[in-house]
Amino acid sequence: MAWKDGKRWVYSITYDEGCEALLDHALAVHHEFALPGHVALVASRIGVPRDVPGSSYDGMMILSSEQIHMLCAEGWGVSCHGMTHVRTTPENADHEVVASHRVLEAALELPVTMFCVSSNNESYAHCESPPTSSARQRNATARPDHLITD
Ligand SMILES: [Zn+2]
Repeated sequence: MAWKDGKRWVYSITYDEGCEALLDHALAVHHEFALPGHVALVASRIGVPRDVPGSSYDGMMILSSEQIHMLCAEGWGVSCHGMTHVRTTPENADHEVVASHRVLEAALELPVTMFCVSSNNESYAHCESPPTSSARQRNATARPDHLITD
């Protein structure tokens, strides 16, 4: 990836969940400093109010596909943040990591090459290597290229 002005090191800001409110409260700051941001998106919650048990963001509207495309046109990045934002375990890794990636790419009609681990760092090992053989097989083509932690 080529960065603006040929820079080798850049800063960005990641917005957990991609709440629509960032358009009203943060986008102007990004424009002022010509700094693209990044949204970590829960694959099952694009363009609908957040409904994830235990989240302080519940009820907040999540960016639509069209709004995400507008941000990407300004240089923003997108990562998959799981299917439901739960802690990833060996039992749900296929759903939360592999299936969520496919669902998000289909919803956005964009390639998604990063995965942002949700919950806590205990999820990381299960996201890196989903346990089922079917997940490993699909992982060869479906797995995001990079893991980052929430
Ligand atoms: Zn999150």
